[in-house]
Parts: sequence; structure tokens; C-alpha cells
Amino acid sequence: MPKIIHYRNKCIGCNICFELQPEIWRMSKKDGKATLIKSLAKKDVFISTINESILYQSQEVAKACPAKIIKII
Ligand code: SF4
Repeated sequence: MPKIIHYRNKCIGCNICFELQPEIWRMSKKDGKATLIKSLAKKDVFISTINESILYQSQEVAKACPAKIIKII
């Protein structure tokens, strides 16, 4: 199953991931950064396993992130 990796500490809070894919992204009211829903944290890196059905869309979000901190593996 594909995974999304989010290097959250480098997030600039631009909102693009949330606008493009609100089913898996939220914007934190605490620090203004994006939060990957249902992810597991390893220090500042958040990892979430995703369904193949949202893989293409997730790749588009990763491409659109201006900080380039979303990776799909
Ligand atoms: S698109 Fe990237 S920089 Fe913008 S809020 Fe989402 S993770 Fe942060």
C-alpha cells in the first residue's frame, strides 16, 4: 500500500493540500501547519498509509506543495 510522508516541521501553512484533498488534510488552528489525518508520527515526520484509489490525487498534492515536503512512496 502506498504511503504519504509529511515533513511537517517545514510546512509553511499555505493551505493547498487541504484545498485539494480535504479528506486527508487538516489545517491546525494551533500552529497553522497542515496535519495529515490518521498518520503516525516519527519525531517531526508523519506517515499515513493510503488506499490505491487516492494515490493519483495524493501525487498531485505532493507536486503542488510549494515547500516540497510531501512524499509518496
Ligand atoms: S501544501 Fe505543503 S506547505 Fe502547504 S500547507 Fe500543505 S504541507 Fe504545508
